[in-house]
Amino acid sequence: MYDVLILGTGPAAITAAIYTTRYNMKTLVIGKGAGMISHASEVENYPGIYPVTGPDLMNKFIEHAKALNIEITYETITDISKDNDVFTVKTNKGEYKGKTIIYALGGEKRKMGLPEESKYEGKGISYCATCDGFFFKGKDVVVAGGGNGAALTTILLSKIAKKIYLIYRGEKLKAFPSLIERIEKFDNVEIILNSNIVKIKGDNFVSSIIIEDNNGQQREINVNGIFVEYGYNRNSEFAEKIGVELDKPRRIIVKQDMSTNIKGFFAAGDVTNGSDGFGQVITACAEGAIAARSAYNYIIG
Ligand SMILES: Cc1cc2nc3c(=O)[nH]c(=O)nc-3n(C[C@H](O)[C@H](O)[C@H](O)COP(=O)(O)OP(=O)(O)OC[C@H]3O[C@@H](n4cnc5c(N)ncnc54)[C@H](O)[C@@H]3O)c2cc1C
Repeated sequence: MYDVLILGTGPAAITAAIYTTRYNMKTLVIGKGAGMISHASEVENYPGIYPVTGPDLMNKFIEHAKALNIEITYETITDISKDNDVFTVKTNKGEYKGKTIIYALGGEKRKMGLPEESKYEGKGISYCATCDGFFFKGKDVVVAGGGNGAALTTILLSKIAKKIYLIYRGEKLKAFPSLIERIEKFDNVEIILNSNIVKIKGDNFVSSIIIEDNNGQQREINVNGIFVEYGYNRNSEFAEKIGVELDKPRRIIVKQDMSTNIKGFFAAGDVTNGSDGFGQVITACAEGAIAARSAYNYIIG
């Protein structure tokens, strides 16, 4: 029986594990791999480590955990249950019992929702420019979205692709101003606002898209790649199943100490409504640290 089962292997989970280990709690971290930050080509706002790519930053977290001999197992969580104040977490490989849970399962990239999308996944459609950008060297591509993810993807692709169309449905990009300023300086980036991608065309691979503006005007653009940056959905379904309260965007409702409405069940990171909904590495880490302290206080009564 573990004192704490920490779910996830992203920044919130690893930070929580560093703290619970320092509290001498018997800790197991269960996750299926790198967190969302591994999609970021560069991270400019995590203090003390600059410059750094998302994957390198995540590796540093894992190296830190390994240096403290934290037990991490890479498995896919399939179910959580609670019986007599003991939590059971089932995975694709086995099951684990713990007195407390720190739930830090973050989010998954959102899809465009077009019927033909799945046909072109890996055949022109990508959800990770850091992973796939290189395959589009010298080609024309689209970045779909208007937030920080879309901006960073555009910056990365500006050095690889021939031309990038940044297509966003809103009137104004909503990325950090410093990122927008950089994008506006690139000769090979065309920003198209007030427009949606309504159709993807091609044979085996993407060859063009149809976009539609707010007036219903359609236009076809020839592209080889589409990088989807529509934000992400929260992985809160296992928490919901055992009665943890969620808000409308399906984030776990946490109190200031990262506790939830279920005794012994704490949550941290992008999956919560904490930190004023400001989903960043630094806020995920802060929530992980607070959740660890609260789990410790709960155990010692
Ligand atoms: C493209 C992009 C760029 C970004 N750039 C920045 C930036 O520059 N600076 C910044 O501060 N933030 C940035 N972010 C946001 C940042 O990545 C998140 O805020 C941060 O990763 C949240 O950490 P987390 O630990 O809460 O969740 P996540 O990082 O999402 O980690 C969730 C963990 O849960 C695991 N998991 C999920 N489901 C299961 C399951 N069923 N079984 C087992 N494990 C599971 C995942 O494998 C992962 O390990 C960016 C995000 C994206 C997508």
